[in-house]
Amino acid sequence: MNPPPHGTVRIGIGYDSHRFAEGGPLLLGGVAIPSDVHLTGHSDADAVCHALTDAVLGAAGLGDIGELFPDTDAANVGRDSIQMLETAVARLTRAGWRVGNVDVTVICERPKLGPHRPAIRARLAAALGTDVGAVSVKGKTNEGMGWIGAREGLAVMAVATIVLAS
Ligand code: MG
Repeated sequence: MNPPPHGTVRIGIGYDSHRFAEGGPLLLGGVAIPSDVHLTGHSDADAVCHALTDAVLGAAGLGDIGELFPDTDAANVGRDSIQMLETAVARLTRAGWRVGNVDVTVICERPKLGPHRPAIRARLAAALGTDVGAVSVKGKTNEGMGWIGAREGLAVMAVATIVLAS
């Protein structure tokens, strides 16, 4: 297999969902958002970071978050998910890639993400090694339908492009 030429762009997709439990704050994209619920999971349950980690790993063909950080490993209990994202980006960097841009959609009924978007974008940009302008974060409701509408949890979709830098 020949290596791809300099400047090659690839795209990856990621998805994650986590269940809500009583009591805030809600950790999304490394930012603690005032809320009456938080996300539960093996790690810190930051679904934005998890979806993005899978998007960047997928773009580079470097596996997925479950391979990097198995939920059977006690070392990953409560793990900082920004650190997971940084680890994935470091792997990409070693393989010659850099992150181009990312686009994230968070699907939840509340809280509204709008006021927290600048902080989330800044936090993610720092972890991804990009400008803030290369990081898009959008919020959507599920129009009250299904498990998201019933506020059982939230879902996140993410896409990322990566560019072969060397
Ligand atoms: Mg997850």
